[in-house]
Amino acid sequence: MSKRITIVGAGFGALTAIRRIRKADKDVAITVIAPKAEFVYYPSLIWVPSGKRRRQDIAISLENFFNRRKVHFHPHAAKAIHAGGRLVETTSGTVENDGLIIASGARYLQQLPGIEHACIPCRSVEDAERVRDRIAAMDGGTIAFGFSGNPEEGSAMRGGPVFEFVFGTERYLRQKGLREKFRLVFFCPSPRPGQRMGEKAVERLLEQMRRHRIELHIGHKLKGFEAGRICTAAGDFDADLIVFIPGMTGHSWLQSDKLPLSPGGLLRADAHCQVEGMKNVYAIGDCASLPGPDWMPKQAHMADLQGACAAKNLLASLQGKAANATFRTELACIVDSGDSGMFVWRSPGMNFMLPQMRPLHWLKRFFEWWYLRQYR
Ligand SMILES: Cc1cc2nc3c(=O)[nH]c(=O)nc-3n(C[C@H](O)[C@H](O)[C@H](O)COP(=O)(O)OP(=O)(O)OC[C@H]3O[C@@H](n4cnc5c(N)ncnc54)[C@H](O)[C@@H]3O)c2cc1C
Repeated sequence: MSKRITIVGAGFGALTAIRRIRKADKDVAITVIAPKAEFVYYPSLIWVPSGKRRRQDIAISLENFFNRRKVHFHPHAAKAIHAGGRLVETTSGTVENDGLIIASGARYLQQLPGIEHACIPCRSVEDAERVRDRIAAMDGGTIAFGFSGNPEEGSAMRGGPVFEFVFGTERYLRQKGLREKFRLVFFCPSPRPGQRMGEKAVERLLEQMRRHRIELHIGHKLKGFEAGRICTAAGDFDADLIVFIPGMTGHSWLQSDKLPLSPGGLLRADAHCQVEGMKNVYAIGDCASLPGPDWMPKQAHMADLQGACAAKNLLASLQGKAANATFRTELACIVDSGDSGMFVWRSPGMNFMLPQMRPLHWLKRFFEWWYLRQYR
């Protein structure tokens, strides 16, 4: 009988793992567990507030892809893992496997007091649309953009898109002839926001903010939010709209079982992406806490690299071979400003950037088209 692999999630890491597994093995049975057969291309959420992207552009049905790759789709959420990983309990029934890859992404922390007063633009297309609609309904005022981390785990944060939301909004308001009516503020507890990208990138980003008259409120601990107000250790300030990305942690279903979790609530796995102490169970992408340098990003690119690594190791292990593949650590991003972009690259031996230029905006758009093409 052919072996059975279960993959939890239908995002970046999961889909890369499926492609790699099917390429290497035509017969292994693959079951995907996720609430919806839909892939959301999160990097393009930054273009939703300015109307450049709508739901149908960046949330695509996976039905064709699953049919082509002979994937059985189980349209329910995972609830718990039993029998050392061999059984996944879902909101409708259980799924048995010989090997398991967990790629269920992360959730955003809700622990700051008054967090309900902030718009979190990146959990879904609908969240980004809410920001779009709020901005469209304003004829002036203050918009504050910020992010913070997970105090228990430095790597569990998502800062890059906040720069893109603030630069994109600045450009959008300028285009509409409304810039003079708005005050834009950027806030973050770190005095060096975006440090993961390297010192040079931080300098460039801060300089770009000053040039575009985006006020900085950085280096002060965030205490929380009130209606129309951001509270920090260095005083409070008002904003008519607060756009904020909190630190990340694992989904609550991971906590429901005796899975090895990191201090930040992510699934602890080793350099081969194998979950500690669990045979043939792998964790990849945003849901995983993996060894690496302190600047290792929570990015789609890393989820892809880890998805390929987990696929290779799981297939090897199921064939009784050594599962010793590892993944490269790379930070690769274009920080977009709506009509131009800045490129940043970081690997263990190298950190460089290309300054803001128009072709990089078009390259980011081309990459979106090229990436989505394989799943349409
Ligand atoms: C606004 C924004 C901009 C970004 N820009 C970039 C960028 O420019 N470059 C870059 O590399 N990265 C970028 N990222 C980060 C990137 O999107 C994430 O790192 C990436 O999505 C992580 O992939 P993943 O597979 O781990 O999780 P996800 O892509 O989040 O997928 C998780 C999957 O698990 C499913 N799921 C959740 N709970 C359950 C459950 N209980 N049971 C079953 N399935 C479940 C979800 O439905 C989803 O299908 C950006 C993110 C955002 C929000």
